[in-house]
Amino acid sequence: MQKACEWPLFSVDLEISLLCDNSCIFCPREKILRPSGLMKSGDFSIIADKLISVPSRIALSGMGNPLLNPNWHDFIKTYREMGGKIGIVIPAASVNDEIAEKLLYSRASFVEISFPTLQKELFEKLLPGASFEKCLEAIKNLRKALSKTSIAIVGLKTRMNEDEEPEFKLFWKEEGFQPRFFSCHTRGGNLEDRDLIFTESSSSNLCGLTCAHTFIDWQGNVLICCHDLIGNTRLANILEDPVEKILQIKGAFFEKLPPYAICRTCDEPARFRPIPAGKLPESSNARNRFLKNWPKKKHSF
Ligand code: SF4
Repeated sequence: MQKACEWPLFSVDLEISLLCDNSCIFCPREKILRPSGLMKSGDFSIIADKLISVPSRIALSGMGNPLLNPNWHDFIKTYREMGGKIGIVIPAASVNDEIAEKLLYSRASFVEISFPTLQKELFEKLLPGASFEKCLEAIKNLRKALSKTSIAIVGLKTRMNEDEEPEFKLFWKEEGFQPRFFSCHTRGGNLEDRDLIFTESSSSNLCGLTCAHTFIDWQGNVLICCHDLIGNTRLANILEDPVEKILQIKGAFFEKLPPYAICRTCDEPARFRPIPAGKLPESSNARNRFLKNWPKKKHSF
């Protein structure tokens, strides 16, 4: 049998927690119907053993706060010791010195921090209960503690800060971070506040994102996307199914849109990324180059 293309597992978002202690207004948490919980250590070991065979770049990220899983730093350390690339996506309000120490000790390959805006009033509106100044200070301290780790700061373009991107990027670049600025979208139609949403739904017939990226929930279910808050797009379960089965199923989406309602009206800007071609790059440098350039290129399909 011909070996399946490995691109769909090039990058994986692994949801190790569906619990969250934040109440960001751009997160449609109230629409989540999937069962809530934390990934167990034994399950992570099984998943790590399978993903290192690709090897996948893992981001501990999903619809919850990964820091609420008490084993998050052990997961990072384990995969790093296996020779894999793994990082974590965390909300601005959760950064503190203890987290910095654990990130250093576990040798996280990268950190991404959601910091929606540099406008204090809007920041505190989007993240109720968070202090703009405290978050900023904690993140600057994190930069000092992790002097060699890649830290991306992810901003959010909404109807309330549509001109902010150049200033946002300049500020964070000068502070030694990698700034990104993404348009707020409806997350599969689940977010409805029109003041937030900066995208339009699309009728394109492919999704570039799902071809080089996979979402795995805290129970090991491979869903079409993190925007599936109900859990009815289950493709496989990585704890039970071989990696090859996941690759075979997702391989079909290089030529057709996944057959799910959320994909038909999806306004996720990342879906316009080009469908990857050829073999998965072998060297770490070539993989990094792909990752750096892929989000910038757009296809209209
Ligand atoms: S089309 Fe949208 S909802 Fe469907 S997999 Fe792609 S990004 Fe996710």
